[in-house]
Amino acid sequence: MENVAVLIVGAGPAGLATAACLTHLSIPYVIVEREDCSASLWRNRAYDRLKLHLSKEFLDNILVMQAKFIFGDLSRHGITMPKMGPMILKSKTGRSVVIDVGTVGLIKKG
Ligand SMILES: Cc1cc2nc3c(=O)[nH]c(=O)nc-3n(C[C@H](O)[C@H](O)[C@H](O)COP(=O)(O)OP(=O)(O)OC[C@H]3O[C@@H](n4cnc5c(N)ncnc54)[C@H](O)[C@@H]3O)c2cc1C
Repeated sequence: MENVAVLIVGAGPAGLATAACLTHLSIPYVIVEREDCSASLWRNRAYDRLKLHLSKEFLDNILVMQAKFIFGDLSRHGITMPKMGPMILKSKTGRSVVIDVGTVGLIKKG
């Protein structure tokens, strides 16, 4: 405990997000939760089947595959897909992906 710099009270979304940020910064912490699980509000009172453990890389790979399938090759329209998936792109560069609400279809139609 003497190496712990931060005590996080509660493993809800705010506590888990704080823990993720501290992990990223290599700052030691302890997280305490009075319930028997993390995200207890959702797990115990809202969503029976909630799972929180998909890795960013796995999630990212699925999203990249889906984007390729949905949008196809857009390079002839001057649009290149980033090599990284959206989660890694955000965490490494701070850039967010663009959510398409019809623009790609209009570009393809000219
Ligand atoms: C039914 C329902 C459905 C929702 N669905 C969504 C949704 O789909 N999407 C969305 O974005 N938001 C949703 N919300 C809102 C979302 O749940 C809250 O905004 C979010 O949980 C707040 O996170 P938090 O970490 O600040 O607090 P909390 O989730 O309340 O987490 C606080 C944690 O701290 C623990 N704690 C408190 N006091 C102590 C203590 N003294 N010692 C140890 N542990 C302690 C609690 O047990 C709890 O686990 C929903 C809310 C409800 C009620």
